[in-house]
Amino acid sequence: MQSPKKIIITIDGWSSCGKSTLAKQLAKALDYVYIDSGAMYRAITLYFLRNHVDWTKQKKVEEALSEIVLEFIYNPQSKQSEIHLNGENVEYVIRDLVIAEKVSDIAAIKSVRETAVAQQHKIGRRKGIVMDGRDIGTVVFPKAELKIFMTADNAIRVERRFKELFEKNPNITLEEVKANLEMRDYIDSHREVSPLRKADDAIVLDNSHLSIKQQLDIALKWAKDKINNQK
Ligand code: C5P
Repeated sequence: MQSPKKIIITIDGWSSCGKSTLAKQLAKALDYVYIDSGAMYRAITLYFLRNHVDWTKQKKVEEALSEIVLEFIYNPQSKQSEIHLNGENVEYVIRDLVIAEKVSDIAAIKSVRETAVAQQHKIGRRKGIVMDGRDIGTVVFPKAELKIFMTADNAIRVERRFKELFEKNPNITLEEVKANLEMRDYIDSHREVSPLRKADDAIVLDNSHLSIKQQLDIALKWAKDKINNQK
């Protein structure tokens, strides 16, 4: 029997509504590759901050982008692809609130997006991927076979992200996390280039009152339906 054709699954949505949790589990269940597009914008932000790049100056941004190499490398210990910035594994450090505070400004710059999207296209050529982000179903893979748009109540999203960040930094406050999420959602959905919005053909998944297992079951069914109905 012929093995089923592989598809592209995109998961977009607001900050901290569980996109990466679902994307990782979906990829594992289907034996697909999970790609965290947000990690690319976070790694670029880390480079800009470390190297004091003045991102209000187009020339400086372009110079900096030409010096950046991003790679996703599989880590057998975590069993995940992790992002490397110029050879350094930065998967952990990019999750810091210091990065989250600047990433949306940097992700709104046209040339930054062009650099990241070019790489996302290359990765997508082989299909069999689950990619999460903000513009994956609308701009990066507008022809993806399955597009999911995730959402959840604001208070629930703040609580989830707070728990995650508090484990690493007990000095963090709920207010800081709330302010950061609101700011990122605002910038991400109001920027000129590739703003966050639901693709017309995306299916909405509101996980405010779903367990991790329930949301996986729902998305896995959608994915299997698409895979089995491939021409
Ligand atoms: O998904 P994550 O929260 O790690 O993304 C960090 C930031 O990167 C987002 O708030 C957004 O500004 C930017 N991003 C984006 N487009 C994507 C993925 C992330 O603009 N496809």
